[in-house]
Amino acid sequence: MTGFPFSAVVGMDELRLGLVLNAVSPGIGGVLVRGEKGTAKSTMVRALAAILPDVQVVAGCRFSCDPAAPDPGCPDGPHEAGAGSLTRPARLVELPVGASEDRLVGALDIERALTEGVKAYEPGLLAAAHRGVLYVDEVNLLHDHLVDLLLDAAALGTCYVERDGVSVRHAARFLLVGTMNPEEGELRPQLLDRFGLTVEAAAPRDPARRGEVVRRRLAYDADPDRFAQTWHAAEAGLAERIVAAQALLPGVVLPDASLRQVASVCAAFDVDGLRADLVTARAAIAHAAWEGRGEVTAVDVRAAARLALPHRRRRQPFDAPQLDESELDRALAGADEDPDDDPGPGDDGPGGGEPETTPGQDAPPARESAEPGRTPAQDAAPREHGQPRPGSASAGPPVAPGPVFRVKRLEVPGVGAGAAGRRSRARTDSGHVTGAQRPPDRVARVYVPATFAAAAPYQVARGRAAGGALLLRPGDLREARHEGRESNLVLFAVDASGSMAARARMGAVKGAVLSLLLDAYQRRDKVGMVTFRGSGAEVALPPTFSVEAAAARLASVPTGGRTPLAAGLLRAGELLRTERIRDPRRRALLVLVTDGRATGGPDPVANAHRAAGLLAAAGVHSVVVDCESGPVRLGLAAALAQSLGGALLRLDELAAGPLADSVRALKEVA
Ligand SMILES: [Zn+2]
Repeated sequence: MTGFPFSAVVGMDELRLGLVLNAVSPGIGGVLVRGEKGTAKSTMVRALAAILPDVQVVAGCRFSCDPAAPDPGCPDGPHEAGAGSLTRPARLVELPVGASEDRLVGALDIERALTEGVKAYEPGLLAAAHRGVLYVDEVNLLHDHLVDLLLDAAALGTCYVERDGVSVRHAARFLLVGTMNPEEGELRPQLLDRFGLTVEAAAPRDPARRGEVVRRRLAYDADPDRFAQTWHAAEAGLAERIVAAQALLPGVVLPDASLRQVASVCAAFDVDGLRADLVTARAAIAHAAWEGRGEVTAVDVRAAARLALPHRRRRQPFDAPQLDESELDRALAGADEDPDDDPGPGDDGPGGGEPETTPGQDAPPARESAEPGRTPAQDAAPREHGQPRPGSASAGPPVAPGPVFRVKRLEVPGVGAGAAGRRSRARTDSGHVTGAQRPPDRVARVYVPATFAAAAPYQVARGRAAGGALLLRPGDLREARHEGRESNLVLFAVDASGSMAARARMGAVKGAVLSLLLDAYQRRDKVGMVTFRGSGAEVALPPTFSVEAAAARLASVPTGGRTPLAAGLLRAGELLRTERIRDPRRRALLVLVTDGRATGGPDPVANAHRAAGLLAAAGVHSVVVDCESGPVRLGLAAALAQSLGGALLRLDELAAGPLADSVRALKEVA
């Protein structure tokens, strides 16, 4: 089917420019597109291939060799000088987030190598993407291991596969485009830096432009071919302009003045290393070529810096990449500017990154809010910064989190098979060897000791000569069974009711949850949060890899009111059920943070235990963090843990030790 035309996407000028500059000069190193869902960023990326020039390839070569300069190491080569060639459109290859390593880099058939002595290699997506576009939607959700392989290939222009000493290498040069939704979690900074450019994609706010988006989409859906026809001239124009810019590119001059501007801008934004300077220079040259200029000007440097620098600034671990436009203009204006110039309010200056406000110094609590239908005796007011406010029955403003500490590892019982991580026991691809097995289908990695042991008893029967080589048969091959750790979904159900706040406990509780969140981040878990207070429960944070989002939500959770414990448990149960469908291999751990009191809803105590029983019956693994304190203890949380069939841990038993300095930053986010 005809795809949506590149030129028909409304707005998104930055993304358009970022993609086009990379098409002109692939050495820029690709584009990372950041933006919420529903911004048509994927539509635009998928439309790119259609405006890229066709490629000429050696006929029959699975590695898309260029007939003019075939890869000397091509696994399908060497290609004769007179080999046939054909012209085909540039490809856009999509790498699915759940892809295996074999799918990405290709599969070497070890079985045939060992038993038949032939090198059998099935090319993967990197081979398919050579001389085209490799697109990774939700690149931030891609397994770290795959991201490393991908970025290595992108940096070297080569795909290298090795299995048990057998190796294959082929050319893999492609325009790498990744998209991500920052709400789903940030990309690790060292990976962020490997993308040449970043752009923010946002849906247009202007009603007229939004209307235009819808109008075009409807027209396309009604008749894709006809729609493509109306945009044909625009598409062809763009394609021609890319070809023209590619031709102009090698001759574009970067004058010393522009080079100084590049250096001055990169220095002003305090970027790490020299990669930023290089990428900015390349992008500026490509921009000049795109504009049909033979020489780089300040306009080109500015356009390049806006795309190349935001993600390379030094900043706090969880700050979003961004660039201040006026700061950029100042840096471009040159070195004659007084460096002590007041950068103005809301601007943290070139040294960059520190938050302006200190956490915990929020506006003073409003005293006069009141929630109807509350029992003052049960729900005393929350305290803010150690100031008691007796008698008030209000749902107070957010309590600042208390100290953060290193927590004990809470584990999901049993052995899972989820994504690699650092929490619960699991069968994994690495980790320590716990045994050997015959592979279910094809051998991925041969485990030599067990393979030899399996072959040994049959050597005489197979006619092995004295001193001769070991005779292997496919049935001898063994793989190691590994056990490592998986990551999990850690769902927090946090009691934010008045009974918790009354004991000035909420700060300590928030500190504890923050500590657990930090722990989840280090163990690569997905996290989610349900809070309950007043008349019901709410999903404060849908499951995400973005621990910083969780920390921010936690800090702003209001406290006070009754304790609808049953509602909280049921809401958590619903969320876990949905997640089990969306991400079935990821096992979940429910961490219920409460003092065990239930005062909200009908028959609160009995219903809470009933809800707990339902969760236990559904196989939910849980840990109850008991927040009860004081001289008289009711042990309500313990009874609840029993109904849940889960473990019980007192708040003060949660800490495993003091917090390392490097992670204090997380607390500052909150
Ligand atoms: Zn080839």
